[in-house]
Amino acid sequence: MDTFSKEKRSYIMSRVKSIHTNPELIVRRYLFSKGFRFSLHKKALPGTPDIVLRKYRTVIFVNGCFWHGHENCIKSSLPKTRTDFWHDKIVRNMRRDVINHQKLISLGWKVILIYQCELKNNVLINDTLSKVVSSIC
Ligand SMILES: [Zn+2]
Repeated sequence: MDTFSKEKRSYIMSRVKSIHTNPELIVRRYLFSKGFRFSLHKKALPGTPDIVLRKYRTVIFVNGCFWHGHENCIKSSLPKTRTDFWHDKIVRNMRRDVINHQKLISLGWKVILIYQCELKNNVLINDTLSKVVSSIC
């Protein structure tokens, strides 16, 4: 017997789904399964990288296509309303990203960027993450 109301159940299911499709979690699970150990969201590093592989002096950013202005990506197209506002905002984000990446590189870190659209199905996930692994090692 279902102890939750229909609304509550669908709320729970939507939460479950969003957790399981979290792109960063996909990357973390994959790397962990390949034996990599890492820390998360290191505030001490420029741009607070999502995943930090200290042993390999490598950081990984798992980027949302829209917020980080993924080039030539359908998911990064701007809304039809307040287009100028969004354009300026995304351009600022992109500039800040570039500055942070340069800082990290000058500190001797390798920077890997993964975009959410590169993880949208299992084939892409395997393809993207096997490339990531070979560029780490
Ligand atoms: Zn994208």
